[in-house]
Amino acid sequence: MKIRDILKEETPHISFEVFPPKTDDAYESVMDATEKIAALHPSYMSVTYGAGGGTSKNTVRIASHIKKDFGVTSLAHLTCVSSTKEEVHQVIEKLKEQGIENILALRGDIPKDGEFPLPNHYTYASELIEDIKKQGDFCIGAACYPEGHIEAEHKKEDILHLKHKVDCGVDFLTTQMFFDNNIMYNFLYRIREKGITVPVLPGIMPVTNARQVKRILGMSGTNLPERFRAILDRFGDDPRAMQQAGIAYATDQIIDLIANGINHIHIYSMNKPEVARAIMNNLSDIVKQ
Ligand code: FAD
Repeated sequence: MKIRDILKEETPHISFEVFPPKTDDAYESVMDATEKIAALHPSYMSVTYGAGGGTSKNTVRIASHIKKDFGVTSLAHLTCVSSTKEEVHQVIEKLKEQGIENILALRGDIPKDGEFPLPNHYTYASELIEDIKKQGDFCIGAACYPEGHIEAEHKKEDILHLKHKVDCGVDFLTTQMFFDNNIMYNFLYRIREKGITVPVLPGIMPVTNARQVKRILGMSGTNLPERFRAILDRFGDDPRAMQQAGIAYATDQIIDLIANGINHIHIYSMNKPEVARAIMNNLSDIVKQ
């Protein structure tokens, strides 16, 4: 099923993200987590893609299992910064062969020591999106950044680039994580004002590990509200308490988003079925499975 059709439904829906293993040894454990998350009946599941293209084989493979074996709509991420256009075309062909209808088209982070842009590579996700449209009948998603993309000097400029990207053929957007819903509401207001009308799924990250979140936040430029900082300070050294507090915080964000009319929410479930399950239990009378 195409995600753009799922997004037409006006009742609350939750989708989850998984990431492929870095090595083939870990493949079975990732599949086990994926199957457990799929059993929660999310509206769809997304599978990330290594910026360097290294995990591309497993992205297609896992997305295909999610669809064919677990009966859940799948969304395959696809980054282009470290691959030639031909290499990217080959991945798109594989997705077609596997009957995967949904692609989250991304540029990927620029490699630290690499040259950018390279000849015969895409420079921005918008160029990739134009090419995907030529290659098949896919539903195309893209990324957006309520606090501005880390490379963008001004949010205004970032939103203009986003408008161009959407006009290239984007069906829906998913946001980078944020921990203050007012940032999301403000972003929605600003992009709607600029004529970006496609559905926007808030990306919610249940933080269950204090050290990991500090690293991710440093890379993405996401702000931590005082309320959340206090949770990290108080529970960060106690993994079980941190997990419980992180799940409660994410649940609270989700309920507020749904109460304010946002029906489709994406959860960065980080291959943790127990976290995904706890959130679904907390929402059992809000999100019908
Ligand atoms: P773009 O949309 O190309 O934007 C990148 C930057 O270029 C922005 O600052 C933008 O303002 C600027 N820009 C865009 N167009 C122009 C233009 N025409 N002229 C000048 N500047 C321009 N990374 C992975 O490696 N694998 C994943 O699976 C993955 N999944 C993600 C999922 C989500 C929901 C999100 C939010 C991010 C994900 N990322 C992933 C991270 C992403 O690859 C990085 O944030 C990357 O730096 C930007 O990708 P993009 O597709 O948003 O780029």
